[in-house]
Amino acid sequence: MPTALITGITGQDGAYLSQLLLSKGYRVVGLLRRSASSDVVGERLRWLGVIEEVEFADGNMADLSSLIRVVQACRPDEVYNLAAQSFVAASWQQPLLTGSITGLGAANMLEAVRIARPEARFYQASSSEMFGKRQQALQNERTPFYPRSPYAIAKLYAHWMTVNYRESFGLHASSGILFNHESPLRGIEFVTRRITDAAARIKLGLAREIPLGNLEAQRDWGHARDYVQAMWLMLQQTAPDDYVVATGQTRSVRDVCRFAFGHVGLDYREHVTTDPQLLRPAEVDTLTGDAAKARDALGWESRIGFEELLAEMVEADLARHRQALGRG
Ligand code: NDP
Ligand code: GDP
Repeated sequence: MPTALITGITGQDGAYLSQLLLSKGYRVVGLLRRSASSDVVGERLRWLGVIEEVEFADGNMADLSSLIRVVQACRPDEVYNLAAQSFVAASWQQPLLTGSITGLGAANMLEAVRIARPEARFYQASSSEMFGKRQQALQNERTPFYPRSPYAIAKLYAHWMTVNYRESFGLHASSGILFNHESPLRGIEFVTRRITDAAARIKLGLAREIPLGNLEAQRDWGHARDYVQAMWLMLQQTAPDDYVVATGQTRSVRDVCRFAFGHVGLDYREHVTTDPQLLRPAEVDTLTGDAAKARDALGWESRIGFEELLAEMVEADLARHRQALGRG
């Protein structure tokens, strides 16, 4: 039974990846940082019904010694480094923390693997935000980067450290440059989930409107359940490499509003307001990924489309709020 160590196991991708690896017969160990709210940590794993099947190991991305101890104890065959301060907007408020967890945290994990388990295969959760102010209409593995936030800059450092450890030490280290991916388990502060949750609350009479920032921003949005498959596939290859993972389809924040509100029979124009406070100091206007390499080399493709994704998210938010109201 192979062992996988997942950092960021309590996040969106960590939950779906755990479910996938368990279904393939892996022993799954997740890094868990100490929290005063430990009773609610693991909500996503519980939602997917897999929390009883994963093991947890105490550690923090900021503490190299804890990572070395975890790697020594669980002896992973595969390490998926998903932990990060992952919210772009927060990275301007906490640039140094973002650098130390999202950037240096990846270096800590690479060091832990190099020192304690160099034969393990390593996956780094890189991001399309590294393309930022896009240099080509379609972004692939050869597109130059132009990061636009402290988050993207931290991710770029982690990405190049992954490439460097592969080239310097021969680690089987791969970097997945994933475009935005969402699900009912997406953090509530990200725009898709803010919108699907608002559409559900407004439909149920729990709210009347939702303030948003830039409605014209465009992203290439896929489903997290599809994207964790690409992570696994990368680590099954003989040689490590970097891959863009995307749908190739771009939609705007306004499109998300139109579809999510439309799904519950509402007109978003009657409920969405704009708040300049939610605009970003530097924006990533539009991103569209070219995942041809992942398709050709990994046999991966995105299966769940934009409308199916949003419908699933709105339905899940409706169910959550109905349950809280006792109408479940
Ligand atoms: P989430 O924000 O949902 O999860 C982040 C995870 O990191 C949580 O488990 C969190 O733990 C953990 N974490 C944060 N700080 C620390 C720390 N100091 N020590 C240990 N663990 C820590 O992210 P997603 O699941 O959405 O994304 C997974 C990865 O992929 C992230 O690195 C993200 O930046 C990257 N990515 C995501 C994309 C997306 O569209 N979702 C696109 C491209 C890249 P806790 O629960 O304790 O807070
Ligand atoms: P990101 O691509 O990782 O930054 O993912 P987000 O979901 O946080 O943001 C996607 C886009 O939506 C960005 O261009 C934001 O500026 C835009 N956006 C517009 N309104 C909002 C909002 O209220 N919250 C968030 N999070 N993003 C918003």
